[in-house]
Amino acid sequence: ITLTYDEELIHKTILVGDSGVGKTSLLVQFDQGKFIPGSFSATVGIGFTNKVVSVDNMKVKLQIWDTAGQERFRSVTHAYYRDAQALLLLYDITRKSSFDNIRAWLTEIHEYAQKDVVIMLLGNKSDMAAERVIKHEEGQKLAKEYGVPFMETSAKTGLNVELAFHAIARELTQRA
Ligand code: GDP
Ligand code: MG
Repeated sequence: ITLTYDEELIHKTILVGDSGVGKTSLLVQFDQGKFIPGSFSATVGIGFTNKVVSVDNMKVKLQIWDTAGQERFRSVTHAYYRDAQALLLLYDITRKSSFDNIRAWLTEIHEYAQKDVVIMLLGNKSDMAAERVIKHEEGQKLAKEYGVPFMETSAKTGLNVELAFHAIARELTQRA
């Protein structure tokens, strides 16, 4: 197997969705393979993590940006979306408002992001079966309506976390 490594190519990937849906937890789980209970809402500013994901014989470099306290509509700046190649849009399967807001997020994304941005919809907190209010099929249906892939994830157990970022990386290589 030949590994190709393009040092120039780094894909800006951003995490978007209502406050509390688990964006920071998802990134921590993907980056460090662990779940730190409790909210990260006190975190100030926007930070990023660089990760390399292997897709077939390629290494895809992702620079994953996390929002903190900028989750309200119109407060995430145009610039944040503008140079993003990929976008993970999260809702919380236990909080209906976070699911209902997905349409508004997509409107904002279509307004500000690049036309060919890779989007994936994620229903997070899939481990919380007893508190679930949004069915898997509802997430699937919404994703289908917008033509984006969908997965349920758990930042707590790690379910589908690697898979979600891997799917994003794969999609990026196919569009390059
Ligand atoms: P953010 O505001 O979108 O960055 O959300 P956080 O990552 O700060 O998470 C908000 C709260 O939900 C915290 O208390 C997390 O511990 C919790 N949380 C996040 N993801 C999950 C998950 O997949 N499962 C469970 N059970 N709790 C989660
Ligand atoms: Mg956060």
